[in-house]
Amino acid sequence: MSETSSQSSALNGPPPTRFVQFKLVLLGESAVGKSSIVQRFVKDSFTELRESTIGAAFLTQTIQVDLNTTVKFEIWDTAGQERYRSLASMYYRNAQAALVVFDITQESSLDKAKYWVKELHKQANSDIVIALVANKLDLEAERKISTEEAQTFANELNLLYFEVSAKTGENVKDTFREVALKLPIEDKLKQS
Ligand code: GDP
Repeated sequence: MSETSSQSSALNGPPPTRFVQFKLVLLGESAVGKSSIVQRFVKDSFTELRESTIGAAFLTQTIQVDLNTTVKFEIWDTAGQERYRSLASMYYRNAQAALVVFDITQESSLDKAKYWVKELHKQANSDIVIALVANKLDLEAERKISTEEAQTFANELNLLYFEVSAKTGENVKDTFREVALKLPIEDKLKQS
């Protein structure tokens, strides 16, 4: 692709010319905030009380990672994946990124996250980018899982680690952006 950016008269520079798409899956215990994180990222909104999603919801969102490159995420929200184990192989197939979410106020949710990381290691592509995501950062006063404990686990298994709040939006977009930056963008562009 040629760089004829001087022809553009837009003040903010030319629109990105490189476009890549990746499948990203969300995993984690029920009610940790998976759908809320997706809603925050896709619609920049938050709903206090949510209907539990049935089956797998599917949304897309693009994010510009540099002047020239847009990454489109095809986001698969498990929606109680634990109740739909038969979906698992379809769910993981060709996933290039995974957000394994836990709730900092729910002790059990980190153990569940550990379980999902193991499952990903067994079933997903070996080069999948996995991020451990601590949600509900706005509920700091009710925190049961320390940053140190989660970060240590993430380091041991070579996972990215982020702390977010779907409610306030803190760090949500940056998390997706950081994950996008770890993806094999150049390889994917060469294949297309
Ligand atoms: P999922 O089952 O993992 O998809 O979880 P949901 O997105 O349905 O969220 C479960 C509950 O947690 C809902 O009542 C949400 O409003 C709430 N929730 C989600 N994210 C946050 C957050 O960042 N902070 C707070 N305080 N509540 C949240």
